[in-house]
Parts: sequence; C-alpha cells; structure tokens
Amino acid sequence: MSDFNEKVDRTIQKAKEYAGEAKKATEKMINVQKLKIEAATLKTKLNNEYAAFGKIMFSKLDEYPQETQKSIDLIKEYQNRLAEIEVEIGTVKGKPLCPACGKPVEEGMSFCPYCGQQMN
Ligand SMILES: [Zn+2]
Repeated sequence: MSDFNEKVDRTIQKAKEYAGEAKKATEKMINVQKLKIEAATLKTKLNNEYAAFGKIMFSKLDEYPQETQKSIDLIKEYQNRLAEIEVEIGTVKGKPLCPACGKPVEEGMSFCPYCGQQMN
C-alpha cells in the first residue's frame, strides 16, 4: 500500500474514533438530562403526596388507615428513587461520594451537606 493510502486510512480511522467519543459524551449528557427531568417530576409528585398526606392527617385519621399507609409508601418510594437519581447524576459528573451516606458531594467540600460526614 502506498504512503498516501496509509495516511488516508489512518485519518479515516481517527475520524471514526473521534465520532465515537463525541457520541458517547452526547449520550451521557442526554442521560443526565433525562435523570434531571425524572428528578423534577418526582419532586412535584412528592410535594403533591405531602399535601395529600397532610390533608388526610388533618381530617379523620382513624377513618382512613389505608389511604394514610398508601401515602407513606409512595413518599418512601419517591424519596428512595430521588436519592438513587442524585447518586447517579453525581457519579456521571464524577463527583466524590460521601463515605458515610453515599451521596455525591461537590469537589473541595470539607463536610457532606447531607449527613455532616467529614470529607478528606
Ligand atoms: Zn454524607
């Protein structure tokens, strides 16, 4: 094969590698956007459920044990998923994770803002 052909082949190969990396970076960003949208939706649902829960608590609590339990279960479910999403977003962004609670903490912070654990 001539020098020229080899150079062309190498250039094409490099272009393919760059395109692959750009695609991966875009996919990561899209994934973070999706997670942020899911987090925002969950926060709205959580607030609605807190309101529903408050209404039940203020009305005749004894008469609605099933509704009360349903709200408690939904709040726990939404809180757990939100915590998972926050960890996922932080992991994608490469933030350090708190050794105590596992949540992502901003680079350079001395203490975890969630649990107060000292970061090193
Ligand atoms: Zn923590």
